Amino acid sequence: MKVDLHCHSLASDGALTPQQVLERAHANEVNMLALTDHDTVAGLAEASVIASNLGVDFVAGIELSTQWSGVGIHVVGLNIDPHNPDLKVALAGQSLKREERAQLIGKKLAKLGFDNCYEGAKHIAGDSELGRPHFARYMVEQGFVEDHSSAFNKYLGAGKVGDVKNQWPEIVEVVSWIHAAGGYAVLAHPDKYKLTRSKLRRLLSYFKEVGGDAMEVVSGSQNKDVTEYFARLCDEFDLYASCGSDFHNPNTQWCDLGRIAPLPKTCRPIWSLWTSSPN
Ligand code: MN
Ligand code: MN
Ligand code: MN
Repeated sequence: MKVDLHCHSLASDGALTPQQVLERAHANEVNMLALTDHDTVAGLAEASVIASNLGVDFVAGIELSTQWSGVGIHVVGLNIDPHNPDLKVALAGQSLKREERAQLIGKKLAKLGFDNCYEGAKHIAGDSELGRPHFARYMVEQGFVEDHSSAFNKYLGAGKVGDVKNQWPEIVEVVSWIHAAGGYAVLAHPDKYKLTRSKLRRLLSYFKEVGGDAMEVVSGSQNKDVTEYFARLCDEFDLYASCGSDFHNPNTQWCDLGRIAPLPKTCRPIWSLWTSSPN
């Protein structure tokens, strides 16, 4: 069974509509898919209708922005009820924080001589939740950087000037929103935070302590050694394991839907919590 529990649509910073995401997943023979847009459930209704037409097992998801110890951390919620009133209130707050953050990123980039990045990114995002990839696209269009990856490596990625995370809520808070909405909380892409091994262990220990349920043992086109290391941590911290492509866009370096390594055999798959088929 091919499972992909992390990807994005136009509802946040992905390039495809929810319908196109489902069609692409189906074409890539994905059996179970979660759509996990950043801080929004706006794409889930459309995605779920298309999924049932295509016979894809659909999991309602979200990727929430948080902070921990000065690091921006993403927590994926899986199998959530998108209509949960507490979640709705929380998401309205996230949306405001996202807007404030975007304005701050714009100011910081302007100080470096890159003008109008906020306006440009906002224009590109349109109705979607505004995120750093929109800034990256604008910076590429303006010739400020060569491509998407250099935008992140130089200005927007972890630890760079555009990595503004102070406003995001604490992990404990978003875990409680996810649980209130009946879902499971998953620490997203642990390899992306560029943490030392000891800091990652502290993060996992804290995540478990505040009720976190799982970690992404497989994320995107991740190195095999990293996956094996994460599988050991997953076991040690007594977490369930999740896997996802973090697909955003068919035209860039993003890993494609469903094109991820299987979970190591030692892992307990997160979906065993809501399905009867173990893997
Ligand atoms: Mn994104
Ligand atoms: Mn993320
Ligand atoms: Mn993501």
